[in-house]
Amino acid sequence: MAVTYKSTRNSNETATASQAILKGLAENGGLFVPDHIPALDVDLEKLSGMDYRQVAYEVMSRMLTDFTEEELKYCIDHAYDKKFDTEAIAPVVKKAGAYYLELFHGSTIAFKDMALSILPYLLVTSAKKNHIKNEIVILTATSGDTGKAALAGFADVPGTRIIVFYPKNGVSPIQEKQMVTQKGDNTAVVGIIGNFDDAQTGVKKMFSDKTLEAEMDKKGFQFSSANSINIGRLVPQMVYYVYAYTRLVAKGDIKAGDKINVVVPTGNFGNILAAYYAKEMGLPIARFICASNENKVLYDFFETGVYDKNREFILTTSPSMDILISSNLERLIYRIAGEDSAKNSELMKALTTEGRYEITGEMKSRLSEFYGNYATEQECAGTIRKVYESDGYIMDTHTAVASAVYDKYVAATGDHTPAVIASTASPYKFTRSVMEAIGGQCDEKSDFELVDELNRISGVKVPKAVEDIRSAPVLHDTVCDKSEMESIVRKILAL
Ligand SMILES: *Cc1c(COP(=O)(O)O)cnc(C)c1O
Repeated sequence: MAVTYKSTRNSNETATASQAILKGLAENGGLFVPDHIPALDVDLEKLSGMDYRQVAYEVMSRMLTDFTEEELKYCIDHAYDKKFDTEAIAPVVKKAGAYYLELFHGSTIAFKDMALSILPYLLVTSAKKNHIKNEIVILTATSGDTGKAALAGFADVPGTRIIVFYPKNGVSPIQEKQMVTQKGDNTAVVGIIGNFDDAQTGVKKMFSDKTLEAEMDKKGFQFSSANSINIGRLVPQMVYYVYAYTRLVAKGDIKAGDKINVVVPTGNFGNILAAYYAKEMGLPIARFICASNENKVLYDFFETGVYDKNREFILTTSPSMDILISSNLERLIYRIAGEDSAKNSELMKALTTEGRYEITGEMKSRLSEFYGNYATEQECAGTIRKVYESDGYIMDTHTAVASAVYDKYVAATGDHTPAVIASTASPYKFTRSVMEAIGGQCDEKSDFELVDELNRISGVKVPKAVEDIRSAPVLHDTVCDKSEMESIVRKILAL
């Protein structure tokens, strides 16, 4: 049966998968959600004998039902190729009592590559299927990793342009260097004076601006989104949970049908929501362990049923999780509200006007598969050091937040169900914080000296993504106030 996508804020607004991918966001700020999640009616044993691309086809073909087999396989084969530095694409590594699902082997060394290496293909295919003549303008807010992964994916893709906004003082030096050195005639990168939430709010506002839309259309442009609000990012993210599970089956560590837990370092709630959808498809997952850094708005939400963004925004060493408005949580809220778009809209309106909302007891009772906790800066650094000393394995700061929260979960529950920890970035992307955590003397050293030192102590090859930016020239130096985002977009597109 075909999957139809409908808006979380208006059930009457529906789209096919390709239309939802093209639009990115539904009207009035709504998000597209599948009207049902089809069963993954392939044997888990059989999947355990397939490679990443084959598993991707099995999962994605069930969700993106208006794509032909040929179209989907074309997208998958071009996305998951030699851009990744390992045949496995997403290797599972057993260390320190858990399974680390390494999602950082793509071209920008963060997990965003898992979806953003395929999104340009899905989008261009969707445009063709829907006879779109306009140039697609990808408008993206980034907390650091999405920006570079989207730029890398869309650079010089015919029929597209990409504009990325990042918080000027809210990303790591390597993240910033990766973005501002991006090549490609169709790319633009802009730093804003403001934080990630400001960037995301500004972008969402432009998406719902009808006047802007009409002016763009006149000039032959239309917006789409590379943020995880686009269903074209969520669906590819379901794949690696199925892949990880079936690797454990293949190794004989679990039997097909056994349950696992997943632990996800969370910001915008996209990655963990993809795991939730994978479970709905039939993957045996017992619990979703949602790990936050000191911006622990999600932990408080799971504890109390109150989502409250009225608090200080803290800059941490895990900047890709420095978020107070987790956009994709709306998709879960919609679900636990019994797919009631009016109820969901009411809560989201309260979030916009008052910065907070409270769910009902009945809704909260539907969250029992979720466990939320957070790690302080000190706990995060302590975990990096501990696992380095016990296992010689060096993880990045985001993964360390998840690992620290997993330790808290086990201590609190005694639950030793095999756990897969989503390992979302290479330690080379956050070299300074990682080296400081393991006790390196960092003060007088440049980031690239620290890269070489990390290489010496870890024995892990310096990724090409880092080598490439060592001497690359800065090509983007625009900085604007958060209030000027729209005028910058108009300037870039010559509207
Ligand atoms: C984006 C990102 C996250 C958060 O993922 P969400 O899907 O936004 O919850 C965690 N870690 C890293 C390294 C990231 O880039």
